Amino acid sequence: MLIKAVSELIGHTPLIDLHINVPRHSHIYAKLEMFNPGGSIKDRLGQYLIQDAINQHQITKDTTIIEPTAGNTGIGVALAAQSYQLPTILVVPEKFSCEKQILMKALGATLINTPSDQGIRGAIEKAEQLASEIPNSFVPMQFQNPANPATYYHTLAPELLNDIDHPIDAFVAGAGSGGTFAGIAKYLTEQNPHTKTVVVEPEGSILNGGPAHSHRTEGIGVEFIPPFFKEVPIDEILTISDADAFKQVKEMAASQGLFIGSSSGAALAASLRIAESLPDNSHIVTIFPDSSERYMSEHIYES
Ligand code: PMP
Repeated sequence: MLIKAVSELIGHTPLIDLHINVPRHSHIYAKLEMFNPGGSIKDRLGQYLIQDAINQHQITKDTTIIEPTAGNTGIGVALAAQSYQLPTILVVPEKFSCEKQILMKALGATLINTPSDQGIRGAIEKAEQLASEIPNSFVPMQFQNPANPATYYHTLAPELLNDIDHPIDAFVAGAGSGGTFAGIAKYLTEQNPHTKTVVVEPEGSILNGGPAHSHRTEGIGVEFIPPFFKEVPIDEILTISDADAFKQVKEMAASQGLFIGSSSGAALAASLRIAESLPDNSHIVTIFPDSSERYMSEHIYES
């Protein structure tokens, strides 16, 4: 395959039919989003957000892009901004993995850290403050921008239906901004109203009404209800402990030769759990957003 630009590598990732022991002889398929060039599902978002802003004349060739991010969106935005030579400032809470922060800088972005205890809200506020101070700046704001779920509605969701020739009984995905879940759940349920939609969060995320606290599973977990969730059916919310997520991370490497991040581990744990409540031979689709390689500094295989 001959390509002319790295951006051509975004999307059209493989879907694996996992040959693992699933309750009730069901099947779990996982979309391997670590095969995007920046290493995560968020390369799709970066490309879509920048392209959408260009189409809507919200940015010119001198615009500074500013975005609050847990990391992967920052890498995706920095990749897209680089191809248009747009200066980029990413605002990241300190706690997120140093590998992701190193990659954002390597792509040419300027990084600003906010205190971990202020969570993603602290990063959002800082990004808004910078935008008010820097002339000709633009904040895509993944947490509110309808282009976020639209990215997945238009790209990843149709890819899933192309790759599976069986009706999808359940769709399982984690939520950070909620864009991945909302965009795909909307598309799949429009195509097949019988598809059950299951959103996954770590303990310490607020969807289940429990107390908010920190967690080790990175990339998912919400501090406020994503606005995108108003428009999509959510059949079930599953809360997965860090221990269960990390157990699946180790299991995937040891049994399948697959290096997955902790949010993928949580998605797999939730898929296995939902299989128990579905009929025999169900077909469950989930998303593996990134790889374990960007969490080595967090000892992902050692705990
Ligand atoms: N997993 C990882 C590793 C992520 O970086 C993200 C994005 N923060 C997600 C899952 C969740 O995606 P979304 O923001 O679309 O809910």
